[in-house]
Amino acid sequence: SGTLYVVATPIGNLEDITYRAVRILEEVSLVAAEDTRHSRKLLNHYGINTPLISYHEHNEESRSTQLLVKLKAGESVALISDAGTPCIADPGYRLVSRCRMEGVVVAAVPGPSAVITALSISGLPTDAFRFVGFLPTKTHGRCQFLEQIKAEPQTIVCYEAPHRLIVCLADMATICGVDRPIAVARELTKRHEELFSGTIGEAQNYFSQNPVKGEIVLLLGAAPERPPEGTVIDALTRLRQESDLS
Ligand code: SAM
Repeated sequence: SGTLYVVATPIGNLEDITYRAVRILEEVSLVAAEDTRHSRKLLNHYGINTPLISYHEHNEESRSTQLLVKLKAGESVALISDAGTPCIADPGYRLVSRCRMEGVVVAAVPGPSAVITALSISGLPTDAFRFVGFLPTKTHGRCQFLEQIKAEPQTIVCYEAPHRLIVCLADMATICGVDRPIAVARELTKRHEELFSGTIGEAQNYFSQNPVKGEIVLLLGAAPERPPEGTVIDALTRLRQESDLS
């Protein structure tokens, strides 16, 4: 059977595509894309004429069935999304999963993803992080969610719409405290790329004076480490013992 290639495309700067991605997009018989008009422009930029077919969250199920027929008949297909890596806060995993179940080879053609790009320039610890996709859009749901993650001992990365940044920061301030470190990455790889880093309180100040435009990634610093229960007492006891000895 053919191969399903999961191909990453730029998140802004059109130079951020690999040689291999361009070659695969040229060689496959079909490119499955979220928005075919948007992707036609992208492919035109690289001089690629491969036919496009739509694949988005509303037709994932039926399209997967059609694409599987083609793959099993020996045709290779590339899956792309509007920007970045398919399946990361984007449609695709259902097709990948069905290919795997039915023995069709799935190959990764890696490239940019906003989550990793933002993390790499955030200055926040990157040894461990948790990506939570898009935050709930309503205050009640968002606050409930923030309650669940506020004690995470690792950097939290999320996608958020720019017009919700101020209300989102207000909820974060209430639940995580104004002193928690935060970074806001905006328009990554584009002309107006910007990275704000500071505390939640500072971010509230800054963004209320400089309303954010464009696409953003929010990165919340890990919860401050609390000494395990009993630690202070243990230290005191040890000090006393030491002074008793002297
Ligand atoms: N699959 C994509 C990826 O690999 O990053 C993410 C798709 S998701 C539908 C789109 C969200 O990613 C945007 O709302 C924004 O939060 C984030 N994003 C994408 N491109 C970005 C950029 N250039 N700068 C900042 N955030 C970006």
